[in-house]
Amino acid sequence: MLHRIQDPLSGITQGHDPSFIQECIQTLRDKGFQIVTVDDIVAANLAGKPLKKAAAFTLDDGYLDQANAAKKLFSQETPATIFVITDFIDGTMWQLDSKLKYIFRHTQKKQITLPLHSKQITLQLRNPAERKLAERKAVAFVNQTDFQQGTHFVNTISQLADIEIPEQPPKSHKPMSWDDANELNKLGVKIGAHTRKHPILKHEEDQRAYDEIHNSIERINEKISSPSKIFCYPVGRDTDFSKRDGLLAKQAGCIGAVSALPGYYNAGESNNSSNFSINRFSMPDKKNDFLQIILFIENLKEKIRYKPK
Ligand SMILES: [Zn+2]
Repeated sequence: MLHRIQDPLSGITQGHDPSFIQECIQTLRDKGFQIVTVDDIVAANLAGKPLKKAAAFTLDDGYLDQANAAKKLFSQETPATIFVITDFIDGTMWQLDSKLKYIFRHTQKKQITLPLHSKQITLQLRNPAERKLAERKAVAFVNQTDFQQGTHFVNTISQLADIEIPEQPPKSHKPMSWDDANELNKLGVKIGAHTRKHPILKHEEDQRAYDEIHNSIERINEKISSPSKIFCYPVGRDTDFSKRDGLLAKQAGCIGAVSALPGYYNAGESNNSSNFSINRFSMPDKKNDFLQIILFIENLKEKIRYKPK
């Protein structure tokens, strides 16, 4: 699972280094892995022929830097999947956590005090470290609530911080376009749904969860030919989605859904619910950490094979 990717042209200086990703792709090939899509992994398992030694790359949200990097890194031979927030690509919203980042980066206030959980909390904003901490606390709050309350919270902070949130995201938080998505799709990068607005599904009522899941999948079906049949839960920790959300994705035609829980794919359990809670490892930034993930199973086999009697 990849996050943002360094892209000096879009002003993204933090994130994965594309040359490191390239190096990891080569390492996978050298070690005999096949690089496939999550769709391939699930479909093979459903057909009773689970893939061996396979790895799949995924990118979440649909930022422009991800599209720019994916066009260079991935192809039919080295596929990947990008899970996009459909309203974000449509240009009708940008993410609440990006807005918080924007506010805390631009405010001139040295502190703000806001009501939270029936008490007042003060966020200190005197230096970059304090701003970062304030942003983290605010994002954590947004991730514990539904989208409506989260939006209200972000708007309150925006007023207190005296920062007007622009209608469209700044350059560093621009989405890719549907044209980008279609171009990527032709290159071999599958496009899958990641809701309409990126709410924490577990906190949404049934009707809202239905709208977020079904309508994002429908939008992608409208825009992209043969899209991914895998859905991606926003944030994706076990506190962020429920069985209901997996069932909604299944009803909308998906064969699986990815979480952000670290771990390998549970092959062999073809018709159970585990395809709707597929684990993913975050792409590490260090080669050793990457090797540890991809060689773990190999090493385990070796140890069993050479176990002293
Ligand atoms: Zn996301």
